[in-house]
Amino acid sequence: MIYENDQTLNSDTSEPEGDVYVFPASFGQQRLWFLNQLEPSSPFYNISRIVRLSGRLQTELLQQALTTMVERHEVLRTRFATENGNLVQVIAPEADVRLATIDLSGVHDDEKEATAQRLAKQEVETPFDLARGPLLRAQLIRLDVEQHLLLLTMHHIISDGWSSGILLRELTSLYQGFVDGRPASLPELPIQYADFAEWQRELLQGEFLEKQIAYWRKHLEGAPAVIELPTDQPRPQVQTFRGARQTALLSGGLSRQLEELSRSQGVTLFMTLLAAFQVLLHRYSGVEDIVVGSPIANRNRSELEGLIGFFVNILVLRTDCSGNPTFSELLRRVREVGLEAYAHQDVPFDKLVEELKPERSLSYSPLFQVAFALQKGLESTLNLPGLKLSWMEVDRGSSKFDLALFVSETADGLSCLLEYDTDLFQDTTIRRMLGHFENLLQSIVSNPDQRIGKLPMLTPAELSEVIAMSRGGELVENHRTCLHELFQRQVEKNPENVALVYEEAQLNYRELNQRANQVAHYLRRVGVGAETLVGICLERSLEMVIGLLGILKAGAAYVPLDPTYPDERLRLIVEESGISVVLTEQRVRDIFPQDAVRSISLDADWTDVARESTENPEPNTVPGNLAYVIYTSGSTGKPKGSMIPHEGICNRLLWMQDAYHLTESDRVLQKTPFTFDVSVWEFFWPLITGARLVMAKPGSHGDSRYLVETIKQQEITTIHFVPSMLAAFLEDGGVSECRSLKRVICSGEALTYELKERFRKRLPTELHNLYGPTEASVDVTYWHCGSEMDRPVVPIGRPIANTQIYVLDKELQPVPVGVAGELYIGGVGLARGYLQRADLTAERFLPDPFGEKGARIYRTGDLARYLADGNVEYLGRTDHQVKLRGFRIELGEIESALNEHPAVQQAVFVAREESTGSKRLVAYVVPDQRGAGPISRLLNFEAAGQLDGL
Ligand code: AMP
Ligand code: MG
Repeated sequence: MIYENDQTLNSDTSEPEGDVYVFPASFGQQRLWFLNQLEPSSPFYNISRIVRLSGRLQTELLQQALTTMVERHEVLRTRFATENGNLVQVIAPEADVRLATIDLSGVHDDEKEATAQRLAKQEVETPFDLARGPLLRAQLIRLDVEQHLLLLTMHHIISDGWSSGILLRELTSLYQGFVDGRPASLPELPIQYADFAEWQRELLQGEFLEKQIAYWRKHLEGAPAVIELPTDQPRPQVQTFRGARQTALLSGGLSRQLEELSRSQGVTLFMTLLAAFQVLLHRYSGVEDIVVGSPIANRNRSELEGLIGFFVNILVLRTDCSGNPTFSELLRRVREVGLEAYAHQDVPFDKLVEELKPERSLSYSPLFQVAFALQKGLESTLNLPGLKLSWMEVDRGSSKFDLALFVSETADGLSCLLEYDTDLFQDTTIRRMLGHFENLLQSIVSNPDQRIGKLPMLTPAELSEVIAMSRGGELVENHRTCLHELFQRQVEKNPENVALVYEEAQLNYRELNQRANQVAHYLRRVGVGAETLVGICLERSLEMVIGLLGILKAGAAYVPLDPTYPDERLRLIVEESGISVVLTEQRVRDIFPQDAVRSISLDADWTDVARESTENPEPNTVPGNLAYVIYTSGSTGKPKGSMIPHEGICNRLLWMQDAYHLTESDRVLQKTPFTFDVSVWEFFWPLITGARLVMAKPGSHGDSRYLVETIKQQEITTIHFVPSMLAAFLEDGGVSECRSLKRVICSGEALTYELKERFRKRLPTELHNLYGPTEASVDVTYWHCGSEMDRPVVPIGRPIANTQIYVLDKELQPVPVGVAGELYIGGVGLARGYLQRADLTAERFLPDPFGEKGARIYRTGDLARYLADGNVEYLGRTDHQVKLRGFRIELGEIESALNEHPAVQQAVFVAREESTGSKRLVAYVVPDQRGAGPISRLLNFEAAGQLDGL
């Protein structure tokens, strides 16, 4: 017995007021009345059943049975009124129910069903007037002599799912009694709904109520306000409750196994199914704290069992899925939660919401958004002598929740009905989800001691499909080559074409090649060869390109060092990477310690360099040798260098040519600082395809005016922007004059739909969204923004050639289409690792679980999901790496820099999004009280340099 209160439920008769009886309303009725006041014309809380009657129907006897029902149940004679501000139930003494009949027997056969459906829909969607009643309507549609549809509609305020079962059962036995000429003897109702409402009000106060509420407050403390399921469409501001449903029948075998499992684990079937559903939600959302609402009949006293009325209550069941427990262990957790919830089930959900005051929103329901119920299958056909009845619920195209799973026990097995909010989910997603639920159940019965994170959810076929999706195509050209070899081919092909332009100066392919060769011979003379790292510290100029090519031709890999970075950072990189030769210019050569590093100034030392041969040096590299090492921010305070081999970057460039076809008449603007890997394609794509490389003046990448002028003057056809710079560029009035532009390539940050649209309005040019980290040779996915999507997002697209893009969960298993996971990259583009950082390399570069032996995957820290069409959508980061105007920053790195300051006890950085959409870094600092100087000094410290190199 669950009631701690020994009060009994009495049949009460209140004094009639005039010719009616008046009782207080129940808590649930109060809420429905309130909702009805807000939207009186909404049919949302109508509960309908359609009964198909085949055979001979005696309409008068059906009417008689209905009248008897209404006489029997006071609640069917109830309407609502307010008295002194309180809602009351007003019960009419007389039954008033009229079986309205519509005769369609004259309608042509072809149109009969459709007409009936239309009428039924109309009836079901006709609102009730709660103040006037009656709140039960019965309508009979006559199709022909032997075919009728009976529509029974009640307002939820006097009914619930269980009640409709009672209504149908009692109605049929009453009808049968009248047909047989002996009135049915239905058991006397000991009490009426109004008695329950009064009793509930008396019970739910004082200490009893407080104890119950206290339990729920504790149980739900800190629960997420809203479950973050991977929806197909973003959640609308206001819930519309539009919905749909899909069903799946579990096999009899699986259904029996689930029952056996429940028995052997000492839990109910309800608990097993709930636990499995919570695992599904956990695996779909990645969230460990899973809250599900579950309706209970709430008739746990025998007096209530036969009553029609609004009894149903909802228990909020919160399960902790953390720690990757086994399913058996999770079952124990669910059992405990379930038992406690049952012991505190007397608080109506509405009362709970009122007391707990959870964060309210029009966009989702309070406390939970996903529901689950296990229902005893209602026998859906019944045979009376001469009359067959079959009934069904009406799908009204609505859904109260984001998702609701109703499992019914039927003779054929467990039947699952998934109702879903169609503003959030597409039908294909729900179909897949039902499949995953079934697969999960199958995995559970075959091994309940498997950890929930590991329970297979995809069928083998689905798994191979997802893996097939993750593979990019192949290239016709051989990527197993070296960057400088691809360049040399162009030199041979078109030696006189202009290769390189910087302001007034320019070089053709032959000249550029000769100078690069001289640098290469010079470098070889000082001991540089394959796998040597050579620093290059220059401002953007012709020399920069000559230097880069020279280093590659010497067989070495280049390490870009931006002379505008703080000297300390540059020295750190040179020291850590063991660089002993740096190409530089006179102006900045003193940055590096002359004893450890040999600096070659391409200006001051040029006369020496120019003595070298202009011939191509003997090849000394293989495609697996390093081409460059680019440093990015590191989370523990130190930058880290990605080592990229020739074959990786060659694959990336040859793919780009395959996709976008640069020709000799193209002109590419090089404006990205060369410490960013985007610069690699800006330099080399034109140079390996015979196009023209135009160098922007140093520091101009943020200067829209200059860019517009340069594009016009130099007739640039191809340019890169990080989205935040593209946004600024589009603001420039001269953009529409950039008529030479053929393609704009975006990457580095998320490209929003809104920006893409803005671009489309301003420029008739192609726009591409590319994605990739420095660790995987610049870019690994691509998307052409002209392609249509059915949603307002810009995906990052598909894998490029010889590349795999996996979206995996924490156990490195592929997640289903539509579900978020971490993005992993495999293929020839992967870096060899981080220079001198074996630990970090091992952490981020893992064996490829799906590839050949020895193959690796890189763990990006990016969140993404596959869309059904094979494109990938970018969703954000799993860590504290941010992008600010394209700059890749680990907040941990700048935090540790600031934490070193004596005035700082602790510092935390966040990237704050401004209302304009642009981002800023903001530091929160706890000053060190022991006083190492005022905070103003700290501000100077910031400005002075630790941070401005980033
Ligand atoms: P980087 O190594 O500088 O290229 O930075 C790589 C990171 O930038 C990725 O891991 C993403 O977080 C982000 N990123 C690059 N391209 C895109 C893109 N197209 N959309 C969203 N994020 C991107
Ligand atoms: Mg990149």
